[in-house]
Amino acid sequence: APILVLFRNDLRVADNRALAAATDSGRPVVPLFILDENGSRPAGAASRWWLHHSLAALGASLERLGAGLVLRRGGTHEIVAEILKATGATSVFWNRRYAPPHVEVDRALKAGLREEGVEAESFDGFLLHEPTRLATGAGAFYKVFTPFYRRLAAEGDPRDPVDAPTGLTGWKGRLPAGDLAAFGLLPDKPDWSGGLAERWRPGEAGAAARLDDFLEEHLDGYADSRDRPAEAGTSGLSPHLAHGEISPFQIMAALRAKQGRDAETFRKELAWREFSYHLLFRRPELHHASFRPDFDGFGWRRDPGGLKAWQGGQTGYPIVDAGMRELWQTGWMHNRVRMIAASFLIKDLLIDWREGEAWFWDTLVDADAANNPASWQWVAGSGADAAPYFRIFNPVLQGEKFDPDGRYVRCYVPELAELPDRYIHRPWDAPRSVLAGCGIELGRDYPLPVVDHAKARDRAMDAYRAIRG
Ligand code: FAD
Repeated sequence: APILVLFRNDLRVADNRALAAATDSGRPVVPLFILDENGSRPAGAASRWWLHHSLAALGASLERLGAGLVLRRGGTHEIVAEILKATGATSVFWNRRYAPPHVEVDRALKAGLREEGVEAESFDGFLLHEPTRLATGAGAFYKVFTPFYRRLAAEGDPRDPVDAPTGLTGWKGRLPAGDLAAFGLLPDKPDWSGGLAERWRPGEAGAAARLDDFLEEHLDGYADSRDRPAEAGTSGLSPHLAHGEISPFQIMAALRAKQGRDAETFRKELAWREFSYHLLFRRPELHHASFRPDFDGFGWRRDPGGLKAWQGGQTGYPIVDAGMRELWQTGWMHNRVRMIAASFLIKDLLIDWREGEAWFWDTLVDADAANNPASWQWVAGSGADAAPYFRIFNPVLQGEKFDPDGRYVRCYVPELAELPDRYIHRPWDAPRSVLAGCGIELGRDYPLPVVDHAKARDRAMDAYRAIRG
């Protein structure tokens, strides 16, 4: 009898333990992807674009291996039951998921299948460490990164990745394949995805190419260059990780021979991803409830105009605007700039971090159920092991420090391209003659700042003191 292999956020054939176990059994394999939108947070538009292309790539590689991907939309339990009946399969294998409500869906699925005498097995692959296993000495969960990281180190090297199957035995019966286009994952008119397609190559092959390129060209110097947005100093693996086109086990194995500060810094970033999932597993409400409850009484402002300016990259602060436009055009934003842009929304505009989290969720190709809310709460100061609220980024100084020649700003805010370096992060300080020489009129070609940073800083501190009593 055939085995069903469920694909979810593990859209790859290499280091896919569920697929490998099914292949090793020698039985026919039915690979199945279910677009199950019941109860879970709907995926954002950029993620949906990615998912479409990733499923197309996965479908092609499974086809080549000998067992085409079956696509269905609906509730996981119902569809699995239907395909079991249609194929006579007696086993269902999958790789584990860790975000709510997926944990519950899969737990119930496993229990239900076993009750009916169907073999149900789940495997690791998305995280290096099972959140169920990690606890402090006192049995609680880690709320501080450093001891968490120490604990991961004590666990030793992660397992080796498993190879991709060289061939699959397909099921010989008849089953409609399902239609990817009918999922409707691609944008309707207007099609805003051109910039995403230019920057990214969704799918397992694109992920492997990124990893190779990073290790060869960018790991050297990563610890410093990762903070400079004008350089391609980071791996760009995040959307591939979010969709499981590459596993952290594959990345760790490729890094194993690499020593030194750069490799260690990179491993630590991957550990932050583990930490985010550790928090999410224990606090499933992470994207809508502040981790520190005192922040629930925070005096956020309602400011639709400010929010719109931020979303559109029209705040008048060049580094913030460059980041928000990079996000809109490419579906991704550099980490340093994410921190600056998030701090600006939360502290300069005093807008609730959930508004920013939701915008990122919709526009990021790497929108991640754990990393996104955990990082937003980190910046807000409401999270576990968060930056203290009073650390308020100055967008001008941050720009001057991390984009000193303004190359990043010039790329995404072309209307300022002609400004001399010394004014690129503070155009309002440029003498009229300089602005005129560059053909720029502030307020017409580029906005004046939506808030005065110094005043906004004081306002934010007052709001913070208020919740601290
Ligand atoms: P690299 O520097 O090459 O890092 C390698 C991998 O390590 C990343 O792909 C990611 O999986 C992990 N990583 C790196 N930095 C972090 C971090 N600070 N926290 C957790 N994991 C990290 N990351 C997401 O994957 N999805 C999100 O939705 C997301 N939202 C964010 C929102 C805000 C406000 C901030 C400040 C950060 C957010 N991050 C998010 C974390 C980080 O910005 C991205 O993971 C990183 O920029 C991805 O680029 P990269 O793959 O080139 O990173």
